[in-house]
Amino acid sequence: MARTKLLCFDLDGTLYLDGVPYPGAIEVIEKLRASDLEYCFVTNNSSIAPPDYCEKLRRIGFPLEPRNVMSSCEAACHMLRSLGVGPEVYLLGTEKFRRWMEGQGFVHSFDHAHALLIAFDKELTYQKLHEATQCVLRGLPIYATHPDPVCPPDLPDAGMLLEYFKAVRPGTIIQGIAGKPHHWLAEVLCQRFQVEPAEMVMVGDRVGTDLAFAQNNGMRSMLTLNGAHMPTLGEMKPTVIVPHIAQLLDEFWPHNLGW
Ligand SMILES: [Mg+2]
Repeated sequence: MARTKLLCFDLDGTLYLDGVPYPGAIEVIEKLRASDLEYCFVTNNSSIAPPDYCEKLRRIGFPLEPRNVMSSCEAACHMLRSLGVGPEVYLLGTEKFRRWMEGQGFVHSFDHAHALLIAFDKELTYQKLHEATQCVLRGLPIYATHPDPVCPPDLPDAGMLLEYFKAVRPGTIIQGIAGKPHHWLAEVLCQRFQVEPAEMVMVGDRVGTDLAFAQNNGMRSMLTLNGAHMPTLGEMKPTVIVPHIAQLLDEFWPHNLGW
């Protein structure tokens, strides 16, 4: 069994709830920081850019450097570059998302777009929806930063828009999705931390995103409950189930599991 080198953490429901850290969550990150293990906060939320996430996590109290945050924004850049899409893309997302993508070499364009990229757009307007609809009617391929239909607790997210755009033209297929549970995000993590999937552990609370991300990409997984009921697992098999995140400090510390 490969020795663990990197722990990846989902955020909401895993380390904190509504911006309030679970007991022990900050201590787990501090212990990792003092150890020879690497850690990364991994989020599908593309409504803000990675530097904004760093700030948000620091405000909550988590110690980190920019390299400790990975979002579906980075995975989307990797996906589009790997597939040779762009640089002109219709970026259906927030102003922060558009500006960050432009800093990565993509150009937001309606007239010259080669593709439509759907993100978590909390600033969605009828005009943006209209323009994106015209992109789909023009036959542009559709990509998304991540597949979540709803952002907890009840915000309409990118996955819901994917369903809308599938309805715009019968037979429309989504060409690529970057975030959890897809391989693009796993690839950027492996590149940044110079690790293999077998050396990674995904810690999360969602079956369809976090556990599927680990299982689809050859990582070990920890399902954290943090007081919530055991979810329906279906085909998914977490490597271990952790009742509370604080238990990572002792009995579920990777080396104590022989990982
Ligand atoms: Mg979560």
